[in-house]
Amino acid sequence: MTQTTHILGYPRIGANREMKKAVEAYWRKEISATQLETVASEINHANWKTQHDAGLSYVTVGDFSWYDHILDMSVLLGVVPERFGKVTGNVALNTIFCMARGQAPDTQETTACEMTKWFNTNYHYIVPEFTVNQTFRLASDTLFKQIDHATEAGYKVKPVIVGPLTYLWLGKTKGSDFNKLTLLEKLIPAYNAIFKHLKAKNIDWVQVDEPILTLDLSSEWQAAFIDTYKKLDFAGTRGLLTTYFGALDDNLATVTQLPVAGLHIDLCTAPEQLTTVLKNWPHDKVLSLGVINGRNIWRADLNKITAQLLTAKTQVGEKLWLSSSCSLLHTPVDLAQETDLDAELKSWLAFAKQKVQEIILLSAILTDEKNTTVQTQLAANQQAIQARQHSTRVHNAAVAQRVAAVTDNFAKRHSPYAARAKQQHEALKFPLFPTTTIGSFPQTNEIRTIRADFKTGKIDQATYIEKIKQHIALVIKKQEALDLDVLVHGEAERNDMVEYFGELLNGFAFTKNGWVQSYGSRCVKPPIIYGDVSRPQAMTVEWIRYAQSLTNRRMKGMLTGPVTILAWSFVRDDQTHATTALQIALALRDEVTDLEQAGIRVIQIDEPAFRESLPLRKQDWQYYLTWAVKCFRVASSSVQDQTQIHTHMCYSEFNDVIKAIAELDADVITLESSRSEMELLQAFEDFAYPNGIGPGVYDIHSPRVPPTQEMVKQLEKALKYVPHERLWVNPDCGLKTRGWPEVEQALTNMVNAAKTLRKAYAA
Ligand code: GLN
Ligand code: ZN
Repeated sequence: MTQTTHILGYPRIGANREMKKAVEAYWRKEISATQLETVASEINHANWKTQHDAGLSYVTVGDFSWYDHILDMSVLLGVVPERFGKVTGNVALNTIFCMARGQAPDTQETTACEMTKWFNTNYHYIVPEFTVNQTFRLASDTLFKQIDHATEAGYKVKPVIVGPLTYLWLGKTKGSDFNKLTLLEKLIPAYNAIFKHLKAKNIDWVQVDEPILTLDLSSEWQAAFIDTYKKLDFAGTRGLLTTYFGALDDNLATVTQLPVAGLHIDLCTAPEQLTTVLKNWPHDKVLSLGVINGRNIWRADLNKITAQLLTAKTQVGEKLWLSSSCSLLHTPVDLAQETDLDAELKSWLAFAKQKVQEIILLSAILTDEKNTTVQTQLAANQQAIQARQHSTRVHNAAVAQRVAAVTDNFAKRHSPYAARAKQQHEALKFPLFPTTTIGSFPQTNEIRTIRADFKTGKIDQATYIEKIKQHIALVIKKQEALDLDVLVHGEAERNDMVEYFGELLNGFAFTKNGWVQSYGSRCVKPPIIYGDVSRPQAMTVEWIRYAQSLTNRRMKGMLTGPVTILAWSFVRDDQTHATTALQIALALRDEVTDLEQAGIRVIQIDEPAFRESLPLRKQDWQYYLTWAVKCFRVASSSVQDQTQIHTHMCYSEFNDVIKAIAELDADVITLESSRSEMELLQAFEDFAYPNGIGPGVYDIHSPRVPPTQEMVKQLEKALKYVPHERLWVNPDCGLKTRGWPEVEQALTNMVNAAKTLRKAYAA
C-alpha cells in the first residue's frame, strides 16, 4: 500500500539565510535583479530536492517569497494600492518591495503597507488593502514560472495558494468602510483564472490555505465559504483545503459542505479534533493529517503518532495523507548545522529538514512496519524520546517542588493598590506627573562592538564590565541633566530582552543557526526552553546597584516578564505553557527580591507579548489570561508595599484585555498610545483603569520630535480619563533604536511638558 506524504511549506530563508543576504544586497543596489533571481532559484531547487530526495510524494511550490506570501498573493491578484503607481501587466519586483517597505530601488518613496502578526505566530505578513471598487486580475507569473521550473526538474508539484476567504479576511478596507465579502463576486473569477493556469500545467493537486477556518467565524463568513467554494472552478485540478493553528470545531459543518477533494487538519495544535473529523469527513475524499509539528523544534514521538494514526488509517485507507501541521516556515532549516549543541540535546530536536524525514519514517511505519531499517530508525527515535522524558537536565526536583508549593499568597501584594500608593507616595516622594523612560537608551555602534568583542573573547570580562559601566554612568548623567524623576540604567548589556535572561537562566539552550523568518528579511533566533527553569544567580542586580550608586534619584530595575520570555522562545511540549511560565515567574521573583534587597524601590517587568499571546479562539482566552496574570503576579508580589512595580506593554489596542491588565495589579503601567490615541482612550471610556498609568506621550518609532505643547495636549487628553495623581509621563517604548540628539531633544520637551502641567496643578 502506498502512503501519500507532503508538507504545507518549507522555510524560504535558505540554509544560511541566503535570502536575507541577497535581498538586502539588492536593496542596497549591490546586486542585480538577475542575481537576486539566481539566489531564489537556488533556494527553491535546494528545497524541492530536500523534499523529493527524502521521499515526499509532492514537492510544495509557491511557498517561496522575497518578502511575504500574503504580499505575493496580493501581487498575483493585482491588488496594488494606487500610491504605488498605476500597474499594467505584471507587478514589478521593485513595486513589491516598495509595498513592503515604502521604498525600493528606483521607486518613489511612499507609505508602506501595514504589517501585522500572522495568527498567533511570530511571523508577520503584509496586510492587503481593498477599496470599495477593488478589481482583481492576474498580475504576476512568478508562481506559474516556479511550477514550470520544478516540473522541468522532474518533481511532482503541488502548488500552494492562499484561499479566497482567508485572503479577504487578512486584508483591510481603505477609503471607506464596507463589507469585504462584497468583493467575492470579483475575486472568484481571478481565482478561477489561477486554477485554469494550473490545469494547463497538468497540476494534479493544489493546496488552498484557509487557516481562518480555525478562528471564530460569523455565520456570514461561514455561509460565504459555502457560496464561494461552490462557485470556484478548479478546472479539473483537485483542491486540498488546508487548515492549521487550531481546531475546526464549529466550522467543521461548513467545511464538510465544500466541494473540495481533500481536507488538511492540524493534529499538533488540536489532536482531539481527529475523532469528529473522521466521523464527518467523507472517507472517499482525501484527509491530510498534520502530525509533525511545524511550530516547534522537538523530535516527534513517532510511536505515539502511529497509535493516533492507526484508526484513521483503517477508516480512510489510501485517502489518508501524512503531513506537517502547518508550513515549516516557523522552524529553523537544518539541525545538522548546529555543530555547537551537545549531542544529547541535539538528539531531542528536529528542524525542518529532520521533520521531513520524520514524515517519511512515519509513512514507512504505516506501510512497512516489519522492515529492519524502519525498526532501527524507530528504535532510535524512541530512545531519544525516552532519554528526554527522563533526563535530569530536563527535570529538576527542586523546581518542581517550588512550583507545587506556590499558593495564592505568592500572587498577592501585602496591601491593595490604594494603600500601597499612599506608602509609595511617602517613601518615594515623586512629584506629580513623574517622568521616566521605558528602559533602553540608544544602542550605539560602540555598545554593540563592546558586546561583540566580549562574546568573541576580544576583550576580557573585567574590561567588558568596565566599558558597560562607563555607558551606565553616561546615561545616568544625561538623565540627571534632563531632570527625569525615575532613572534607568539603559540596557547597554542587553542584545535582546529575552535572550539576555535566557542566557542567564537554567533550562535554556541557544542555537548557532536556528533562524526563523520574522518578517521580510528579518530573522530571529529564538532560545529553546528545554528544561525546568531556575536562576543560578542574580541577573541584573550588579548593573542596577552600580547605577544607583551614581545618583540620588530613584533607579528603576528592568526585567522581562514570564509571558514575554515564553512567547519569544521555542517552548517545551512536555508540560503546559502555564507551568513553564510559572517556573520563569519564580526565577524572576527571586530577581525582584534581590533588587529590592539591593535598595531598588522601583522595578519594571516588561510584558510586550501579553496581548499577542492571546489564543485564537475566544473560548480559550480566559484560561490563558488566568495563568498569564498569575505568573506576572507571582514574579512581582514578593516586595514590600513601598516598592513600586511597573510594567510596560507596546500597544494601545488593549480594550479587550484591559480587565486582565488591571488584574496584573502593577502599581504603574506604561503603554504605547501616541500613534493611536483614540483606541487607547476608548478603553478608558468603558473601563476605569485603577492604578498608575503612563500612556506614551510621543512615538519613539518615528524620528520626529514633537514640541512640548503637543505633549502637553496629549497629557491633557489623558487627564480626562486618568486622575492627575495617577498619571505618569514617558515615551511610548524603549529608545534603543533612536539616536542621542533626537532622544535628548524629545526628553527635554517631555520633561517640560510635565513641568507645565505641574505648574497648572499647583496653581
Ligand atoms: N525595556 C525594554 C526597552 O526599553 C522594553 C522593550 C519593549 O517594550 N519591547 O527597550
Ligand atoms: Zn515597548
